[in-house]
Amino acid sequence: MAQVQPNLGGTSRIMNSALAEMRKGDYEKANAFFRQIIDSNLPIPPEMPYYFAETLYELHQYDNSANFLNKYLQINGLKGENYENAKKLEAKLVKPLHEIKTCELCDRRGYRFKTCFTCEGSKHLEQDCSYCKAKGIVGCNKCMGSGLITKRNVFNIVEYHECDKCTGEGRLTCPTCTGEKIEHSTCRTCRGIGHLQSDQVCDHKSDEPRHMSFVFQKLKSH
Ligand SMILES: [Zn+2]
Ligand SMILES: [Zn+2]
Ligand SMILES: [Zn+2]
Ligand SMILES: [Zn+2]
Repeated sequence: MAQVQPNLGGTSRIMNSALAEMRKGDYEKANAFFRQIIDSNLPIPPEMPYYFAETLYELHQYDNSANFLNKYLQINGLKGENYENAKKLEAKLVKPLHEIKTCELCDRRGYRFKTCFTCEGSKHLEQDCSYCKAKGIVGCNKCMGSGLITKRNVFNIVEYHECDKCTGEGRLTCPTCTGEKIEHSTCRTCRGIGHLQSDQVCDHKSDEPRHMSFVFQKLKSH
């Protein structure tokens, strides 16, 4: 059986273009070239994962950068031409990866959560209670709404008593909405999480301070 030699011709040409863009500092373009290599399904040049990791680092896609860097170190180990650089990049990634881990505004890959457009972050949807038709009360099922129940005494005479379930009111607080007239259901868009994923890289800064300073500014002007 003939040994199949991997044909790196096409991919090394694209990789040279990517490296040229990296030297120019245009990491967006370099990224596009690296993606071409991946999409081509041709054998990937051995040093490519390192350069791609560096590009992703510059684009602040730290999680992705770490993935390619780990792959690079796994495949090439100490033999990689960029072993030293890879170790340096690995060290540089520690801080941003830690920031992603501790940030509550982004997912574990560092992408900012956006507020769910359906429930606006409340996680639940509210609708009129269907059980009481948003009245908050239902007719008592023991006295059928009359407030009275009948009993026959020892002389077989019908006596009327106040219904003990509704204390003679004939009505009960709706058991479904407990009188709130509103039914809550889990938001289906976000599955009750309140936020959705986005492709915006998170800066781990809350929008809150900007908003608060605006409030303080308004307070001062009075
Ligand atoms: Zn939602
Ligand atoms: Zn009753
Ligand atoms: Zn109800
Ligand atoms: Zn974040």
